Amino acid sequence: MDRPVVFDCVIIGGGVTGCAAARLLSRYGISLAMVESCEDVSMGASRANSGIVHAGYDAAPGSVMARLNVRGNAMYDQWCNELGAPLDRCGSLVLAFDGADKAALNDLYESGLANGVPDMRLISGDEARRLEPRVSPDAMYALWAPTAGVTSPYQFTIACWENARANGLTTFFDARVTGVARGGDSFALLTDAGETVRARYVINAAGLHADEVARMFGDASFSIKPRKGEYILLDKDDTSPQRILFQVPSAMGKGVLVSPTADGNAFAGPTALDLTDKADTSTTPEGAAELRRLALSSVPGLNLRAAITAFSGLRAVGSTGDFIIRASADEPRLVHAAGIASPGLTSAPAIAEELVVILTRQGLTLNEKPGWNPVRKPIEHFTRMTRERQAAAIAENPQYGHIICRCETVTEAEIVEAIHRGARSLDGVKRRVRAGMGRCQGGFCAPRVIELLARERGVPMDTITKFGGSSRVLVSPIRPFVNNRVNEQEARA
Ligand SMILES: Cc1cc2nc3c(=O)[nH]c(=O)nc-3n(C[C@H](O)[C@H](O)[C@H](O)COP(=O)(O)OP(=O)(O)OC[C@H]3O[C@@H](n4cnc5c(N)ncnc54)[C@H](O)[C@@H]3O)c2cc1C
Repeated sequence: MDRPVVFDCVIIGGGVTGCAAARLLSRYGISLAMVESCEDVSMGASRANSGIVHAGYDAAPGSVMARLNVRGNAMYDQWCNELGAPLDRCGSLVLAFDGADKAALNDLYESGLANGVPDMRLISGDEARRLEPRVSPDAMYALWAPTAGVTSPYQFTIACWENARANGLTTFFDARVTGVARGGDSFALLTDAGETVRARYVINAAGLHADEVARMFGDASFSIKPRKGEYILLDKDDTSPQRILFQVPSAMGKGVLVSPTADGNAFAGPTALDLTDKADTSTTPEGAAELRRLALSSVPGLNLRAAITAFSGLRAVGSTGDFIIRASADEPRLVHAAGIASPGLTSAPAIAEELVVILTRQGLTLNEKPGWNPVRKPIEHFTRMTRERQAAAIAENPQYGHIICRCETVTEAEIVEAIHRGARSLDGVKRRVRAGMGRCQGGFCAPRVIELLARERGVPMDTITKFGGSSRVLVSPIRPFVNNRVNEQEARA
């Protein structure tokens, strides 16, 4: 299909906010595009977070966050069913260890009632341990919220994007919007890829950089600060809890939790540290020590020796203290979805609904188009097939018989499918099919995945990156390197 000269709507940013909006907008008869500065979707906060579908008792009653959290939570079952994305409504417990914590639990419960969170209960420590036997004997009370759950933040985001793409979304990757020019009734979005993308309406879903994007349009009404959260990821282990375990929140956020992941691992995190550098995703010994201490106070038997990696994510904390979801006062055809800190993952489907309402109010005509397909088929994982299905899959496609990632039992067929669906780097493959996500963290499978990426994409192996940009994995062939070393040694001798 020919690319339109001017798109009806362009979304800046391919995180969960932008991808959920793209999915919903792809339902309407408009030309729709996304401009993303990285090589893939889900590369910002949507890549590194807790993956919790929050029940909705944390956000201040009356806030946009509270409303969209509860609505978003309720939408997750349908979205995950349609998109083939994981969702486990395992429920959450906020643990109270003393009287002060108990008072904080009461406040959370009251907020939850005001926000419309269903089925919460204040329970005793013993009842909490019946629900989750790994809870510390020191926990005296808990707030139980059965509607909380876990998803995979990047699989959910990728699924939204694939579904939007199947319904007509055009995506420009490796294209950071660096400036805006106005012309007639459209904007020209200038990108560092040299490409100019024209739009009648723009959604600003640029995460940490949404304030900079707003300023490009002459709107300086808010700013965004990064707040780092560090994590420890644990290997699959029977000391890990099956439910989400919070401690009482602080002014900095929801506190450190111990939780299962959607893939059967567990994690402890996140810490909360305000920064100025929007690129600082370092992990620190201090962060790890704090996580260990707090995680063990919730789950004393947690096997922290099963830690397989540490990572961190940056929350985009907006200057208003709430989600900023509105048309710009300076530019009515620019709509912000900014300051989307936690619970932004949970709220994403509801934020998308909100954006549709705002765009309509701002004059964009949105008529449902015939043939919109809400269903996206997930990649079928070999390990989840029955024995009979595995045998049939191998007979049909022998690539199912080649295990590439031994830690997670990922086959060549799955990796090839991930590449054909859009993975361009090692991390792109990892997020789609888990190759490199296990105990060895890609130590064994990375060379094979590089070969497959090069083969399927028809590019030289030394162009393959870990996560796009300058993160090339193979720096130079070994033979010239060895020869150079030999020559240097000969020259010195
Ligand atoms: C530590 C931590 C824990 C969290 N835990 C949870 C949780 O358990 N549950 C929950 O609901 N929420 C959680 N959140 C919040 C959630 O992760 C975020 O709200 C959500 O991921 C934000 O998505 P986004 O699309 O708005 O931003 P991002 O995912 O950051 O995406 C923004 C995108 O915009 C792109 N971009 C930026 N500038 C430009 C530009 N100029 N041109 C083109 N592209 C650009 C970036 O490359 C990026 O891909 C957590 C966040 C953190 C950091």
